[in-house]
Amino acid sequence: MKRAEQVTFGGSGLNRAAHLRGDAAAMAQATAHLSARCLLVWRGKLLLHVDGLDRLAWVPIDHPLVTDGPGGESDIPIFLGLDDTGAALFAHDISGWTAKGLDTSTVGAFVDKSEQQHPDLPEGQVFAELRRVMTRLSPRDAELAATAKAVIGWHSTHKFCARCGAASDMVQSGWQRSCPACGGQHFPRTDPVVIMLITHGNDVLMGRSPGWPEGMYSLLAGFVEPGETLEAAVRREVLEEAGIPVGRVGYLASQPWPFPASLMFGCEGEALARDIKVDPVELEDAIWVGRSEMMQVFAGDHPTILPARKGAIAHFLLQNWLADTLD
Ligand SMILES: [Zn+2]
Repeated sequence: MKRAEQVTFGGSGLNRAAHLRGDAAAMAQATAHLSARCLLVWRGKLLLHVDGLDRLAWVPIDHPLVTDGPGGESDIPIFLGLDDTGAALFAHDISGWTAKGLDTSTVGAFVDKSEQQHPDLPEGQVFAELRRVMTRLSPRDAELAATAKAVIGWHSTHKFCARCGAASDMVQSGWQRSCPACGGQHFPRTDPVVIMLITHGNDVLMGRSPGWPEGMYSLLAGFVEPGETLEAAVRREVLEEAGIPVGRVGYLASQPWPFPASLMFGCEGEALARDIKVDPVELEDAIWVGRSEMMQVFAGDHPTILPARKGAIAHFLLQNWLADTLD
């Protein structure tokens, strides 16, 4: 798909400078650079400029919140890469921060519209939820934000060695965990998910999961299982969830989805039959939606179906299907 990388989180060609991660001298030099800066992450939320919420806010790498702040899931700042001037970019988790009167009731919820101002940071810089702001960020900021959130999220759930259970240490500037007891080495995981645009003539297959907001339908999706190809995962998921056999399957575009650690593989597939048989455990409903009806959905004029969430690859694939730009 020619436009594949135009998807939200589609990448910006960030120089990750992976060769520097394990080089202590190089990292010390990078950290000493005057422009070295750090993105703060608090309970999965990113620090942004409140006016517009459209760009990341950075602190100098020697800011007290980085050097001796409350700490969180990252013991050391995680090296994200180099900016276009060669300055080093880091991310640091300060989830340990709690303040009196801080309202955390919606933090981590499906929709978190709250913003938090840290007393030691300049006015106008707040922590905000990435899903809420992802479509406003530049491709570079979106890549940095997704990377920071995913790696920090991985550290938060992988503090102990999966082989022997001992506490493990962050190494490689945050890109690896090493077990001092058994020598086990662990790497940030990314879970592959297929999401598929299944068509039959001019209709597309849409489903909704139990518990979704009323009227919300999206493309079917599911985790790829060990030993499975992407094509097989597409066919299995659609057959399991909607009872539809799928013939030809093709790859369209991918999207890192750091909620918490997925890589979405956008695929297309041709349905070989139309009769839907929903698996009630997986889906609440599945329907065929025609092209003109989907245009109505996207225009916000449909009486019962809401458009897919902007920024999600489902929205991107449907939009390109409507515009006939999947090639
Ligand atoms: Zn171990």
